[in-house]
Formats: sequence, structure tokens, C-alpha cells
Amino acid sequence: MSPSDENACLEALQALYREIDAAYASTSCPSSSECCRFGRTGREPHVTSIEMVLVRRVVSRRASRRFPTPPPLHLKMAELPVVADERVCPMMSPDGRCSIYEARPLGCRTFFCDRKTTLSEVRHRELLAFVSRLKQIAVSHDPLGDQGRPFTRALGDAQRGRAGGLVKKTQARSSKSRR
Ligand code: SF4
Repeated sequence: MSPSDENACLEALQALYREIDAAYASTSCPSSSECCRFGRTGREPHVTSIEMVLVRRVVSRRASRRFPTPPPLHLKMAELPVVADERVCPMMSPDGRCSIYEARPLGCRTFFCDRKTTLSEVRHRELLAFVSRLKQIAVSHDPLGDQGRPFTRALGDAQRGRAGGLVKKTQARSSKSRR
């Protein structure tokens, strides 16, 4: 995919995020950060390829500010803290805030625990429509990009310098050849 096509996908993703944030604008939570501790909730967000591109760009931009000569992207990602026993999201900063708040995946934008307060609920079918639109953007970015992967696994691949879609395509090809 050309850089301009990828940028168009990113713009579509960010426009979708703005819509989602507006839909949930009347919902607030006590910011306990419990939902960012996957060992506690027993679940973690799944991310599409295009969501990971945005995360990588934000992490890369921040890392570049700290390095006079930018290192390769996988080294920048390798700077991320290791996932602890509680399975705290590697994107959580030491003060308990999301360090990539503007780029956080859809799963983070739409997950609320039962301590949330809300004036108007987003109905389940509206949420499904958002997910469907996200998948359309992801497929236009990468034919297998809509197959969400656990966030920590996607980050681990990024740390090792592997692109999710590329890995999946290789796996898909090899499993086809085994049939
Ligand atoms: S990306 Fe941010 S909001 Fe999502 S789980 Fe990680 S720290 Fe929490």
C-alpha cells in the first residue's frame, strides 16, 4: 500500500474515532484504569491492522523526540515497558494514564465497567455498526487487517519488528499450502 493510501485509511480511522467519541461523550467513568489491567478484567482489546499503524505512529513520534538520530521503529517499540503480572497494558504510563490516549483502539473507547455513569446509552447495534465500519477501513488497508488480534500480541509483534498483516498473510499462505 502506498503511503498516501495508508494516510487515507488513517484519516478514515480518525474520523470514525471522532464519531465514536461523540457518541460516548455523555458517558464518564471514575478512571480507575482497571480496564487497562487485563489480568484483572480477563479481557483485552483486539486491534485491527490500521489501528496498530496509528499506535505505532504515535509511539514512534514520541520516541523520535527523545532520540537525536531516530532508531529503527522496532527499537522504539522495544522501549515500551514489559507487561507485568497484572497484565497492565504496556501503553499505560507510570501515573496510570493512557500514554496513547488519542490513538487508543476502538476497544478502549467503547469498554466501560459497571461503575460508569451515562446520560444516554449507545445501543448495541450502534456499537456493532462502528465495529463494522472499522473492519471495512482495516480491510482496505490490508486484506487480512480486519482480523483483530489481542493488543499485547500486536504490540509484541511490533516490538519484534513484525507487521501484523504481513505475518498473517505468510501464515495464511503456508496453511493453504498444507491443505
Ligand atoms: S491503550 Fe490506553 S486505554 Fe487502552 S488499555 Fe492501554 S492504557 Fe488503557
